[in-house]
Amino acid sequence: MSEIRVRFPPSPTGYLHIGSARTALYNWLFARKHGGKLVLRIEDTDLERSTQESIQGILDGLEWLGLDWDEGPYFQSAHRPEHVAVAQRLLDEGKAYPCFCSKEELDAKRTAAETAKTSYGYDGTCRRLTPEQASAKRSQGVPSVVRFKVPDEGGPVVFEDQVYGRTEKPLAEIEDFVIVRSDGSPLYLLSNVVDDVRDRISHVIRGADGLGNTPRQILLYQALGAPVPVFAHMPLTLDHNKAKISKRKHGEIVAIHFYRDHGFIPWALNNFLVLLGWSPGNDQEIFSRDELIQAFSLERINRSNAVFNYRKDDPKFFTDPKAININGHYLRTLPVAEVAALAKPFLVKAGLWDDAFDGERRAWYLDTIESTRERFHTLTDFAGLARAYFSDEFPIDPKALQKNLLQYPELEQLLPALADRLAALEPFTAETTEAAARGFAEEHGVKVGIPINAARAVITGQVKGPSMFEVFVHLGRETVVRRLRSAPQRFA
Ligand code: GLU
Repeated sequence: MSEIRVRFPPSPTGYLHIGSARTALYNWLFARKHGGKLVLRIEDTDLERSTQESIQGILDGLEWLGLDWDEGPYFQSAHRPEHVAVAQRLLDEGKAYPCFCSKEELDAKRTAAETAKTSYGYDGTCRRLTPEQASAKRSQGVPSVVRFKVPDEGGPVVFEDQVYGRTEKPLAEIEDFVIVRSDGSPLYLLSNVVDDVRDRISHVIRGADGLGNTPRQILLYQALGAPVPVFAHMPLTLDHNKAKISKRKHGEIVAIHFYRDHGFIPWALNNFLVLLGWSPGNDQEIFSRDELIQAFSLERINRSNAVFNYRKDDPKFFTDPKAININGHYLRTLPVAEVAALAKPFLVKAGLWDDAFDGERRAWYLDTIESTRERFHTLTDFAGLARAYFSDEFPIDPKALQKNLLQYPELEQLLPALADRLAALEPFTAETTEAAARGFAEEHGVKVGIPINAARAVITGQVKGPSMFEVFVHLGRETVVRRLRSAPQRFA
């Protein structure tokens, strides 16, 4: 198979979540690395559960992550006539047969097998019907499904999974499985193969939950005379309690839109996702897009389950700490103009944006991003922890309030006095404000750290931050003086 063609085939029954985004990412990386094509196929055959909203959410999520596809989106439901026709072809070629066994009959056989502690598989009753017997049943109106005829002879189904290695399944362990329901609807197992054959998929990279389907799907490829793709199954993603992550159990925290809304940088999330189940073989954790395309390989996908680790009880770690740390890394190291652009929607949303930040105050805005980002982890921090840079209305971090302000009642008088001192200072620079603050502290017999930490609390609301004298200059005399003068209100 010369051309590399992979696919991402989500079922649109919910939002794009971490597990499916990882599948998309691995397929995307593999396609990009090999100059192949990524096909997007919406597997919407479950019409009851598929929604337009979910389709849109998946497309938006992929776009936000920057995972572009080369073909599609194709819709599986549009190909239903072809799936039905393929089933008919298998019937015509004697590779499938109608099965008239009722649910009650099958259930009774299953229960009998369970009682006898033998394994259950369809016993082939209808496989032995003569064409006359089958058409008699049909004319009596007995409902039927279509079953695939698993070959009697031949070795086991063998495939070389790129992650899990050689896998073998004896034919005797595969029952004649259903490919079309009694209402005429094709089963997913069949539709998925027919679509992969039509889309000329060379590599199926999917979750380990697909491993159980693979032998039956290989039999279908063989029966259709189609080349069997290479399979690579990825480990499942579990939470720290070893439960499979799901939206039902974990809610929004596994949704891609959660990360977008909580201030993640798209590439940072990809960088986190790739490490959920893949490792480069050394301790490198940060990869640019091109580096990752270079480094990625199916062979380095882990076999053991990936752990999505987050601490529900610590709001600072509202998701996996590794995701937060990787995001923080990008936030601090990307070009400042890029971070400034990414932060803008969060400031707009918080009502803190000023159009002048794109005009005459651009330099000030870029400086604000540059000087505050050192301690930040998400883009929301610019509207949260850095709120005081954009508005007079901001809360003081309770730690700063207790430790740096309320502990020293004398600050209620000292801070307005410091304001007067700074109001009269000429020029107003980092050097002159520092000298003024030192002189002021000495005159009042306090360590300089006391009024400075308190000034940080009432001017920025924070315990820590960039040099306070630089903050004075950055925010400007007027703001600094105003906030120091209103400090006594913070004691109320
Ligand atoms: N539609 C399936 C899913 O979302 C894809 C299975 C496959 O990749 O073959 O789980």
